[in-house]
Amino acid sequence: MTQSNWKTATRLLHDAPNRTEYGETSDALFLTSGFLYESAEQAEATFKGEIEHFQYSRFGNPTVDTFQERLALLEGAEACVATATGMGAVSSALLSHVNAGQRVVASRALFGSCYWIVTSLLPRFGIETELVDGNDYEGWERALSRPTAAVLIESPSNPMLDVLDIKRIAELSHKAGALLMVDNVFASPTGQSPLKLGADVVLYSCTKHIDGQGRVLGGAVLGPRKWIEETLQPFTRNTGNALSPFNAWVLLKGLETLKLRTDAMAKNAAEVADALSGIPGIKALRYPGRADHPQFELARLQMNNGGSMIALEVENGRKGAFACLNALKVISISNNLGDARSIATHPATTTHMKISEEERARLGITAGAIRLSIGLEDASDLIEDLKRGAAAAHAVQ
Ligand SMILES: *Cc1c(COP(=O)(O)O)cnc(C)c1O
Repeated sequence: MTQSNWKTATRLLHDAPNRTEYGETSDALFLTSGFLYESAEQAEATFKGEIEHFQYSRFGNPTVDTFQERLALLEGAEACVATATGMGAVSSALLSHVNAGQRVVASRALFGSCYWIVTSLLPRFGIETELVDGNDYEGWERALSRPTAAVLIESPSNPMLDVLDIKRIAELSHKAGALLMVDNVFASPTGQSPLKLGADVVLYSCTKHIDGQGRVLGGAVLGPRKWIEETLQPFTRNTGNALSPFNAWVLLKGLETLKLRTDAMAKNAAEVADALSGIPGIKALRYPGRADHPQFELARLQMNNGGSMIALEVENGRKGAFACLNALKVISISNNLGDARSIATHPATTTHMKISEEERARLGITAGAIRLSIGLEDASDLIEDLKRGAAAAHAVQ
């Protein structure tokens, strides 16, 4: 029931309405594991797929359905499957699609658990995997000169915010016969539309901007209807990777304010990045919305804004980074992102602790690197807080 001329903010409130006979204002929460049949015949017809009837919430649930439909309409995808977590989305998309003996190519800069799936889990099932440095397009051409089943990338990447050319990688993926899967968490659905750039599948951790208020875990896979129904859904349904109806309901509430929040967060992040760049204590700063980002032109083309994430490198390595984090009073030390509250993370000792030092160096994750997720506080309070942090890093002996 989408009015195709409605803008995003309107559609996030009104797309895919699914009201019951009671005419409730807010989306209904169907917190139920199962569903009743009026007769044995109806149960049989349901299991035969002859009629549309919910049978069990691992297979489908009205609240989860509403969330899937609204997110699919926002993303411009034919279909969506919601999963228990973001990692549930990534693992199901890959494992449902790829068979033993096939090949997966991924960008090197990946979220920690995605990196583990590609480098540790898939090879155990006889799947060959190869990592490519995000902006090494000769490397992409070489890796994709052989038949490949799936390509997984993240842009902007975690945590150093490399921006990858989705259109170019999509073309190379398709030549190799691969589906291009884009983990779009850092940009969020309002910040970037990978399907419009040629990607086949979009993956979300809904835990991040879509909830955006630190409450629930959730994930989503969006893509072509045939692939979702024939490849992904049998896998998620039978392996039990289902989103809880309660979490779906919370995520529907998150969608209502998603555009408002992500726009405000990007505006805050741009202000913070400009205020921090070049001040004592800060050696380097990366923000896709700033002209000094190495892929600024590309970011401008494929993103709607600079996003809510900033990568910093402070002076004095790990000691400097710890002094900076410990001096913060507004920004919390945590490893989540996309939250209404601003969060600072030291990747080398937390999210990226398990990867080798050599690989960390290759990804640009130095001992002084800090990942910032900018939230909804007043920008001036965030700037003051981070200036205090930078001064603390600078003062370290
Ligand atoms: C958080 C995150 C994930 C995993 O999501 P969960 O909901 O924590 O399972 C995957 N990719 C990226 C880029 C993330 O930030």
